[in-house]
Amino acid sequence: MKSPRPMDAEAAITVTPIVVADLHVEGEVMPVCVHVIDHPDGRVLVDTGMTELHPAVVAAFEPRLYPLSEQDFDVAGIDIVVNTHLHADHCGGNHLFAGRPIYVQRRELDDARREEGYTIREWADAPDLRYVAIDGELELLPGIRLVPAPGHTPGSQVVVVETGGRPDVICGDTAVWFGELDEPLTEGQRLIRALDPEKVWLAHVREPWRSTPPTPKTTGDFES
Ligand SMILES: [Zn+2]
Repeated sequence: MKSPRPMDAEAAITVTPIVVADLHVEGEVMPVCVHVIDHPDGRVLVDTGMTELHPAVVAAFEPRLYPLSEQDFDVAGIDIVVNTHLHADHCGGNHLFAGRPIYVQRRELDDARREEGYTIREWADAPDLRYVAIDGELELLPGIRLVPAPGHTPGSQVVVVETGGRPDVICGDTAVWFGELDEPLTEGQRLIRALDPEKVWLAHVREPWRSTPPTPKTTGDFES
């Protein structure tokens, strides 16, 4: 769903998850989420999911797809794309954003292009993609930082979003499930915890991870 674009410079930066596929893994349904960041200076999309089936993906995951291009989603309204990494379920919609800047760590781009079986090559290198390969940390827009987070892949990055209090982190697959943030093991997972985030948005869990679970209220109102 398209969320309203903030109109004034004071407007908060917001993160909205969108489910673009369901994968079937060992009898469980695993969503594929992408995330839209609404920023006063533009709309940023983090990862692009998948838009079509591919034999390699079908065999492994029996995916059910809800491509961005077939949802009530303003593809043309995205100004900047970020890939946390280039596994097939994170870059399969990149072709929808041909010509727009797609930020990825150079290490990740090199690995995806060089290593056999790393990704679906024709998705990662679809025609007319305009990758911006970066080395290390980058301030994408004021309050939005790209930070290398090795672990899931050596070239993975996370997106750190200043939303007012403690930051939100969009983590790709740096953590695939909550336990990997509860007890961080990789460099990337430890880095996320060191940021003391309010919320961490994972690619394969609909709800964000929180370091301190909200206290249930007795009123039935679970807003926190
Ligand atoms: Zn991955």
